[in-house]
Amino acid sequence: MNNAEGPRPGRRAGRELVYGEVRVVRLGGGLVSAHLLVDREGLTLIDAGLWGVARELRRVVAGLGRRPEELRNIVLTHGHLDHVGGVAEIQAWSGARVWVHAADREHVAQRVTYAGAARGCGVLEAAGRITGWFGGWRYRAPEIGGELLDGDTLPFWGGLRVWHLPGHTPGHCALVAERAEACGLVFSGDLFASYAWSTHAPPRFLSRDVAQAKGSLLKLAETRPVAVLPSHYDRMEPALHARRLAGLAAQANQKNARSTVQ
Ligand SMILES: [Zn+2]
Ligand SMILES: [Zn+2]
Repeated sequence: MNNAEGPRPGRRAGRELVYGEVRVVRLGGGLVSAHLLVDREGLTLIDAGLWGVARELRRVVAGLGRRPEELRNIVLTHGHLDHVGGVAEIQAWSGARVWVHAADREHVAQRVTYAGAARGCGVLEAAGRITGWFGGWRYRAPEIGGELLDGDTLPFWGGLRVWHLPGHTPGHCALVAERAEACGLVFSGDLFASYAWSTHAPPRFLSRDVAQAKGSLLKLAETRPVAVLPSHYDRMEPALHARRLAGLAAQANQKNARSTVQ
């Protein structure tokens, strides 16, 4: 899966990337982003953010002059609360089918028993659920209607290739666009976070298997993607995140080489 050719650079317009007739709309932001993929055939959501995203999505869909039932599919990169918080509400509103890798069903149900350093993740999710509860929101799990399988191409937005890249969670997946206008654009979930002040792999306490997560990050970097949208980032510039990923992978490889020599 070498993406050296890459998609034509999308034109950035505020919170959107425009590729000719199709677009990617950023929802949420700051803490975590979800992405709405728009084309003539319909709407697809990648991740569902925290609880505020459901309301924002309704506004955005109305602004695009589209109907709720045009959102037919929601694809979850993984089941952490900051990616699934709004999903049940959005499913109830639109009737969309929710897709996730089988290994993350327990995460989506928020029924995971965390162990070791990852216990911190369980504490954060519990804190998120309690914070939402004070705002009158209660986490509900969606009905899962589709299973993500490594190597499959979902026929949404001109084709989204599923790439199982576990470690952060057991069922963590990236999605790679196959449509001509955006071919090779990677939605990389939580393989890394990309900010001007810090580009980093998720901290130890947020990942179930740190070594496996690092392997997954290097696997993505080895394909030399030229356009990447993580879930946690500052500017909506896929080429910038691809360069930051390459830098992060180079650092990790240097560390590996040093520890092998010692
Ligand atoms: Zn996560
Ligand atoms: Zn996250």
